[in-house]
Amino acid sequence: MKVSLYLGKYKGIKVFIHWTFSILLLWIIISNSRSGVAIGDTGWSLLFILAIFFCVILHEFGHALTAQKYGIKTKDIILLPIGGLARLEKIPEDPRQELHVALAGPLVNIVIFFLLSIVVYLKGFNVELVEDTHVDGSTILLFLASANLFLALFNLLPAFPMDGGRVLRALLSLRMPRVKATQIAGSIGQFMGISFVFIGLFYNPILVLIGIFIFLGAQAEITHTTQTSILKGFSVQDVLMRKFPIIAFDAPLSKAIEKLLDGQSTHFVVVKDDDPIGTISREEIMRGLKEGNEGTSVEKVANLNPLNLEVYQPLEEAYKLMSTENKKVALVYEENLFLGMIDQENISEFIMVKLALSK
Ligand SMILES: [Zn+2]
Repeated sequence: MKVSLYLGKYKGIKVFIHWTFSILLLWIIISNSRSGVAIGDTGWSLLFILAIFFCVILHEFGHALTAQKYGIKTKDIILLPIGGLARLEKIPEDPRQELHVALAGPLVNIVIFFLLSIVVYLKGFNVELVEDTHVDGSTILLFLASANLFLALFNLLPAFPMDGGRVLRALLSLRMPRVKATQIAGSIGQFMGISFVFIGLFYNPILVLIGIFIFLGAQAEITHTTQTSILKGFSVQDVLMRKFPIIAFDAPLSKAIEKLLDGQSTHFVVVKDDDPIGTISREEIMRGLKEGNEGTSVEKVANLNPLNLEVYQPLEEAYKLMSTENKKVALVYEENLFLGMIDQENISEFIMVKLALSK
C-alpha cells in the first residue's frame, strides 16, 4: 500500500491516510492565501480539517469495533479526502447486526456533537460567533460540534452503500429476502448518487465525487449480493474442472508458451513428480518473459502458494476466499486426493447460466 501513509493502529486495526488527502490540505492553503486570509487563520482552518478527519476516524472505529463484536475483522481504515472507509472483511448478513454496525458510525458523531456542545455551552455560548464564518480559537469547537452533527445526518441519508442506505437495507431485510432488499436500497442509493452529482456540479466538487462513489458502490453491491445468493446451495464440485493442462515445475517458459498457444487455457497446474505444487497464469508467464527469457524455468514465476479448496466446500465460501485472497484459480482436493481446479471465470459463467435460467 504505497499510496497511503500508515498512521497507527488500535485494537489491531491499522489506519492509513491516502496520498490524495494532501491535495485537500494544499487546496485549503492555496485558496486561503488567494483570498487573502491571514496565515494564522489558515492554520486554524487546517487544524479544523484535521480535527474533522480525526472525528471521521472515530466514526469508522464505531463501525469496525461493532463489527469486531460480531466476529468480523476489519482489514484497515483508510482516510480519503471524501471521507473514511473501514474495510470490513465482510458485511454481516444478519440484518440486526448490519443495522448495529451501520448505526455505530453516525452514533459516534452524535456523541461527539453532544460532548462538544456541552463544552461550548459551559464556556459561555455567544450567538455572534455563529454569524462569524471563520474558524479560530474561539469558534473552532462550535464549528467542530456542527460538523459532527452534519456528518451524522449526511451519513444517515438513505444513499446505499452509505450508512443510512445500509440501515435501510437491514430494515428491508427483516421483511424480505436480502437480494430484494439490496436491489431496492441500491436503486434508491443510485438515484441519490446521481442527485449528489447534479447538486455537486453547482455547489461542491467533493459532492460530485461522493455521488459517483455512491452510484458505483451501489451497483457493485447489488451485483455482489445477487451473485453470492445464486451460489448458495452449490459446492466447489459443481464448477470443478477435471480436465486441466499441467506443466512441470522445471520446464522452461518456452514450453508454457507452447501450451498457451496450443489451447484456450490461461492457467496451468505446476507439477513436481506428478504432485501439484502451484499454478501459473498467462500474466505470470508474460512477466517471466519480460524479466528473463524463454529459458527461465516455470517455478521462478509460478505461484507456489496456491489456494487449496475441498471439493464439498460451499461454493459461496470458495468464491469469497478467491476474491479476498485475490486468486484467479484454486486447486481442489478430496481429502488428500487432487481432483482438479476451479477458476473465477468458470464461476462467473456458472452465475450467468443460473441468472439466465432464473428469468
Ligand atoms: Zn459510516
